[in-house]
Amino acid sequence: MSEQCFSSLQLQPELLKNLQSLSYEEMTPVQAKSLPSILSGKDVIAQAKTGSGKTAAFGLGILANLDLKNYQPQSLILCPTRELADQVANALRQLARTLPNVKILTLCGGVPIRTQVKSLSHGAHIVVGTPGRIAKHLRKEYLTLASLTTLVLDEGDRMLEMGFQEQLDDIINAAPKKRQTLLFSATYPPAIQSIAKRVMKNPEMVKVDDGHDELTIKQHFYKVGSREERMTALRLLLLKHRPKSAVIFCNTKNDAMDVTDELLDFGFSALDLHGDLDQVDRDDTLARFANKSVSILVATDVAARGLDIESLDMVINFFTSSNPEVHVHRIGRTGRAGDKGMACSLYSEKESFKMGRIGEYIGQEIVPEELPSKAVLNDDPVEPEMVSIKMRIGKKQKLRAGTLLGILTGENGIKGSEVGKIQIFDNQSYIAVKREVVKQVLRKLSKENWKNRPIKAWKVGN
Ligand code: AMP
Repeated sequence: MSEQCFSSLQLQPELLKNLQSLSYEEMTPVQAKSLPSILSGKDVIAQAKTGSGKTAAFGLGILANLDLKNYQPQSLILCPTRELADQVANALRQLARTLPNVKILTLCGGVPIRTQVKSLSHGAHIVVGTPGRIAKHLRKEYLTLASLTTLVLDEGDRMLEMGFQEQLDDIINAAPKKRQTLLFSATYPPAIQSIAKRVMKNPEMVKVDDGHDELTIKQHFYKVGSREERMTALRLLLLKHRPKSAVIFCNTKNDAMDVTDELLDFGFSALDLHGDLDQVDRDDTLARFANKSVSILVATDVAARGLDIESLDMVINFFTSSNPEVHVHRIGRTGRAGDKGMACSLYSEKESFKMGRIGEYIGQEIVPEELPSKAVLNDDPVEPEMVSIKMRIGKKQKLRAGTLLGILTGENGIKGSEVGKIQIFDNQSYIAVKREVVKQVLRKLSKENWKNRPIKAWKVGN
């Protein structure tokens, strides 16, 4: 039996069967290296990023040891953002679907605490949440960790970067001393090493090489002078390569906001994503970027964390990170799943030291290239093919994507091929449709009712 086979592990037959049905044939490197230790109850630190299969690594460990008769939380998974917590909870539900009645609850900020308290009163085997909200539940004694056996810190580096140190300490202090602690982190800075030292017992270290970056992502570096020149360089790259989906990284929130404003002035389709957005605005931004009605997202590292964007054409470092691990993490967002990705980084003379560090880290000498010809500055920016339509009805009003698609493509409707992504949130929904049919869709929706009330729908953005 291959060491990479899940069947070499001590897992319940139901779990193994499910992995087969999910077409998980072999373990990913992080799973192969960490699962034996996780299953034997050891503390593990795994340096692995999104896309490595880390969720299933800790997820299988948790599910293998769950006592289904005990409805008090036995596992707590802390994540930096609500999106990541939702992703993790969904991944766990999928892994647990062949086990009887595993209850997985998410507890994140941005939603009323009262409904969460009610859900908690029905019991849960596994809780996934963000540190601020979990700490609040503990403080108010809505949540108890008396039965906790496994604590997972997912994307630990980002949680610290987001300033969750105090809440993490409170949560760890409220957890039983005898427990398993699993720490997943894309980078391993001193702050993480220190937390690991304080809260883990003889942790096993796991590190995987994700060689894919060098293989499929072509990196380009450009030297720029003034701030104005940097902006021109950004426009040249965007106008030359015309990405349909690109993320531009800045190191601060203010830079992200300024760059977005400037791009909008130049006629680009752009939105900013930073830590100061409230949850509604964040959901809005992410929905519109993911459905291809906005082509550029200008983001800070913290805010971009937990994003799972398929098929990103380009990543541009408007300001390059001084941490090479962060740099590699940023550019790893393009070129997923074997697609060819393109990563461009801008730097000034003053930032040359960053290039030295990055070059050393990726084992490559960094040679700046020439920027595209200024002639492209006369071209119009890419206009997104899709437009977002928003409605104030969602899951809570029992709206389903299939039903909505049926309405859109029904009598006097549009073709299925003219509908893009449909995203249904609790109380609102986004539909992406081809630009040419927006008016027709709005007209159609204005004549429709949902649960005996007229549907209110409007176009968001340009
Ligand atoms: P993660 O890094 O946890 O976000 O996982 C990345 C993706 O890989 C998810 O879509 C998983 O469903 C998938 N995945 C995880 N483990 C495996 C595996 N052993 N084989 C195939 N796909 C996997």
